[in-house]
Amino acid sequence: MQIRVTSDDSFDVVIIGAGIAATTVALSLPANLRIAVVAQCRGITSSHWAKGGVAAACQSPDDADQHIADTLQAGGGLSDRVAVDLMVREAPAAIAFLSDLGVTFEGLPGREAGHALPRIWHANGDATGAAIMSALEKKILSKTNLVVLTGSLIEIATSNTGVSGVLIENDNSAALLRTSKVVLATGGATGLWSYHTSPPTNLGLGIVAAYRAGAIVGDLEFTQFHPTAIALSASPLVLATEALRGAGAWIVDEDGKRFLFDYDPAGELATRDKVSLAISRHSGQAYLDTRPIDECELTAKFPSFVNACREMGFDPISTPVPIRPAAHYTMGGIVTGTYGETNIAGLYAVGECANSGVHGANRLASNSLLEGVVFGRRAALHLASASFPDNATAHPSSCSLPTRATSLSRLMHSVDTALGIEREGSTIKTTREALAADETEDMDPFLAHRYVAASELVTMMLEAAESRVGSVGSHTRSDQQPEDTLYRLQFLHGSKAQRVRRFS
Ligand SMILES: Cc1cc2nc3c(=O)[nH]c(=O)nc-3n(C[C@H](O)[C@H](O)[C@H](O)COP(=O)(O)OP(=O)(O)OC[C@H]3O[C@@H](n4cnc5c(N)ncnc54)[C@H](O)[C@@H]3O)c2cc1C
Repeated sequence: MQIRVTSDDSFDVVIIGAGIAATTVALSLPANLRIAVVAQCRGITSSHWAKGGVAAACQSPDDADQHIADTLQAGGGLSDRVAVDLMVREAPAAIAFLSDLGVTFEGLPGREAGHALPRIWHANGDATGAAIMSALEKKILSKTNLVVLTGSLIEIATSNTGVSGVLIENDNSAALLRTSKVVLATGGATGLWSYHTSPPTNLGLGIVAAYRAGAIVGDLEFTQFHPTAIALSASPLVLATEALRGAGAWIVDEDGKRFLFDYDPAGELATRDKVSLAISRHSGQAYLDTRPIDECELTAKFPSFVNACREMGFDPISTPVPIRPAAHYTMGGIVTGTYGETNIAGLYAVGECANSGVHGANRLASNSLLEGVVFGRRAALHLASASFPDNATAHPSSCSLPTRATSLSRLMHSVDTALGIEREGSTIKTTREALAADETEDMDPFLAHRYVAASELVTMMLEAAESRVGSVGSHTRSDQQPEDTLYRLQFLHGSKAQRVRRFS
């Protein structure tokens, strides 16, 4: 269906998103640039919901080398060492950047699974994301060179020399924002699973828009399942932060047995992929038992966990809380260099939608807020000095949108069936084929546009998971075959998926 494009405006930089990555870029760009920050949701982002904190080796006996080693270990051999090195060494500066913007970090860092030492910096107990975002949003509102818009990305416009603008949906109409510099900070795709911890709007649409514009995307088989989502509500499930296990909480089965040691010698302190896999393999309901933590410490350090449980009718001081793994973080995404730059001139990606290479096959806890700040600052540096041809395009009078798509519930069913914690080749293949042949439904064109895009992403995820026959990091094949797992699968529109090695 042809939709009228109602208005247009031009900006030096357009940033899509309103989480930690987008706001960091916006606040780090020079004040003489005219910037638009566009997002479909404000205040409801993974960044606002982040609990545990920000990882940074800021004080002895910890050091950058140990943080690098832990990050690489979690990544299963698929992390990009240069990117990890940069992120970790710039972590103390990222903490200082946030502190300068008004975030008050608590005195001592905590410890989380996969980290050899305590290095997780908290603000406002276990509501670190909300504390950070509140400080950053105050600063955003004080900037006169920033325009904050509500809207959903439809398409990235390009010419043969690079980015020329973005097409945005707002209130059932489409508008073109002209620019030669676009930053995508649209978060992950975990809203595609029935059980997820992120906002349901996380459908990976920024990743698909970049792919359609010609950007390389990759590592799409890797999705992290958080082991301790509280199994007491519908999705999005409330998270019991990993810091609880760092503080001494146990995971037990219906008989009260700490069964994780049957699966990994690190027990509760094993990385997320291992704990989620153990919970999914162990029969019966799993529980998080926080009674080993001193009551005063629990209520002082984890107030939002205690309150959330009580609101759901459970008192964690006296009773173990039922938990389940839930889709939590998208490791794959838009392939970027060390400044967030993509293979398209003028297109950048930062935060969870990016595939900077720091997480490899499995993200280390609390490295994600860090990634958003470090690479957000680096992207701003690059943007400030880069110049791209002015690709001013004529204002199109209309754009074409589909009117039929596979429903979201059908897509979620495919994802749950084939892309769970353990995957199996023939199920992935059957699901991929069924999705390709699936009946579509009539719907509103803007909604159809989203679901067609989500379906395109799911298809690539299925292809990536089917192609990787070995198990590594968060990708476990129950029918695994011996394979050299040290490659990354990348997709470029119009070409066959390619296996590449990206190490340094
Ligand atoms: C419950 C929870 C707890 C977590 N705890 C931690 C933690 O303690 N430490 C840690 O390091 N990480 C944590 N994470 C992960 C971390 O919060 C995220 O990876 C990180 O915040 C992502 O930031 P971002 O800016 O890239 O994206 P997000 O914060 O997800 O923001 C994405 C933005 O893009 C917008 N958007 C998306 N699609 C479109 C579109 N098509 N058009 C327009 N706008 C769009 C959204 O509305 C949103 O504003 C947690 C995640 C969750 C869900």
